[in-house]
Amino acid sequence: MSWRQISPKVRTRFAPSPTGYLHVGGARTALYNYLYAKKNGGEFILRIEDTDEARSTEESLKMVIQDLVWLNLLWDEGPDAGTLKDQGPVGPYRQSQRLSLYKDVADKLLAEGKAYYCFLTDEEIEAQRQAAMAAGRPPHVNSPYADWSLEQARAKIAEGGKAVVRYKTKHLKKDYVIQDLIRGEVKFPSDMVGDFVLLRTGGMPVYNFCCVVDDHLMRITHVLRAEEHLSNTLRQLMIYEAMNWPVPEFGHVSLVLDEDRQKLSKRKGAVSCNQFREEGYLAEAVENFIALLGWSHPEGKEIMSMKDMEEAFSTDRLNAAGAVFDRVKLKWVNAMHLRALPEAELWAMVQPFLAKAGVQTPADPAWRERSLKVFKTSMELLADAVPLYSLLDDGKFTVLPEAEEALGWETSKAVVGAWRDLIAAHGREDFTEEEFLKIQDEVKNRSGAKGKNLFMPVRVAVIGKPHGTELKILVPLMSQQSLLRRADQVLARWN
Ligand code: GLU
Repeated sequence: MSWRQISPKVRTRFAPSPTGYLHVGGARTALYNYLYAKKNGGEFILRIEDTDEARSTEESLKMVIQDLVWLNLLWDEGPDAGTLKDQGPVGPYRQSQRLSLYKDVADKLLAEGKAYYCFLTDEEIEAQRQAAMAAGRPPHVNSPYADWSLEQARAKIAEGGKAVVRYKTKHLKKDYVIQDLIRGEVKFPSDMVGDFVLLRTGGMPVYNFCCVVDDHLMRITHVLRAEEHLSNTLRQLMIYEAMNWPVPEFGHVSLVLDEDRQKLSKRKGAVSCNQFREEGYLAEAVENFIALLGWSHPEGKEIMSMKDMEEAFSTDRLNAAGAVFDRVKLKWVNAMHLRALPEAELWAMVQPFLAKAGVQTPADPAWRERSLKVFKTSMELLADAVPLYSLLDDGKFTVLPEAEEALGWETSKAVVGAWRDLIAAHGREDFTEEEFLKIQDEVKNRSGAKGKNLFMPVRVAVIGKPHGTELKILVPLMSQQSLLRRADQVLARWN
C-alpha cells in the first residue's frame, strides 16, 4: 500500500538532528523537500530528531532554525521559529517529546511477536560478531531470546534484567524493493540486516524506528533525503511491513563532493549556511546554487529565483551522480543575484556589513543607490562592499607606505598641488565623471607630468595608495570637502 492510494496531499519533511550548524547537504535536503511540497501544493514539515541526547542541543536547534529562516524555507508545521512551540495538528514535532508514541508501537510489535526483548550483553554480541567474521558469515546478532515468550521476558525484566527491544527478522526471507524517485528500482535482500534494535536499554528509541513511526503519524508521503540513509531504508521498510502501514515514496539524493571528489569538508572553506551568511552570500543565491547540486532546470537555467525553482522542480530531474561543490561557481551565482537586486534592497543587505566594519557613509538614500549602482559590478559578495566603501570614508583615509614611491617622484608635489587647487576652484560640492577627467587633464597641463607620474600621485591624494578602484568611479561619489581634506593631508608632507 502506498500513500498515493490513501491521500492526494503531498507532505514532505525535513528532519534534522540538531547537532551543529546547518550544513550545505542538509540545506539541500530541506530545499528539495520544500520545493517538492510547494510544486505539488503540499505541506512541508519540520521535525526535530533529537533522541541522541548526548549530541543534540537546544543551541544547535536554534542555529538550524535560524538558518532555515535565513533561507526562507519556512515550514507549515513544526516548532515555531520564534518560540519553538509546536505548531500543527500532528505534533509534538520533537522526537524527544514523542517517546510514549514509540513505546506504544514497540509494545504492539512485542505483543504480536514481531519484536522481542533481547538480554544479550555487549560482550556476548561482540563475541558473536568475532565468531561470525572468523567463519565468513555476516555479523548478524543471533539472539537466543528471539523465541522467548513475552511473559518469560517480562519476568526477567522484573528481576532486574536489562533488555533492548529487537526487531525480529528471522522469518523474513525475501527481497524488499523500492522505486526510488532518483535511483529507480533499489533491491534489498532481507538478509542484509540481522535483528536490529528498536529501543535501547532504558527505552530510548533508535533513529530507524522513530523515523518510521513519525513519518507514518505525520502522514509523510515523500521522503527526499541523503544517499547515506539508503542503507537504513531496508530496516524502515521492515517496520512499515510489520505495522502494515503505507510506505512513503523515497528519493535518495547524491552526496555533495569537493572539487577533488572527496566528501565535502570544512577544511576547504565554508560548508555551513551560517558561514555563507557571514561571508556575504545571499540566501537566494545559496539556494540557487545548492539546488543545482543534483538537480537541473528543464530549460537549463543556471540563475534562478526561488519562484523559478518552485515552478520547475520535479524529482525526475534529480541526478543520482555525486554533485561537485564548485566554490567558484557559487561566487558567480552570488554575483549574478547580487547584481540583479534593486539598489535599495541591496543597500539593506550591505549595511550590516559596513556597520560591523565601522565604515561611515552618507545618509542620503540617493547617494547610497548611486554608489551601489557603480560598486555592485565589482562585488561578488556583500562583504566586498567593505573595502569599496572604506575608500570613501574620510575616517579611514591614510597614506599607505606603498604610496611613498609615487610621492617621491620629482613632479609629484606639483601634481598634488595642482589637483588641490583645481578641486578648491570647483564651484560645487560634487563632481561628474567628465568634470573629474577634465580636472585630471588640467593637472597634467599644469604639472607637466603624464602617465603614471600623473595618475599615481592623484590616486594617492584621493585614496592614499597608488593602485585600486578607478578614480573616475570614486570621485563622483566624493565631496569637494573630503577631497580637499585628503589632498591637504598628502601635501602636508612637503610643508
Ligand atoms: N535525522 C536524520 C539526519 O539528519 C534524518 C534522516 C531522514 O531524513 O530520514 O540525517
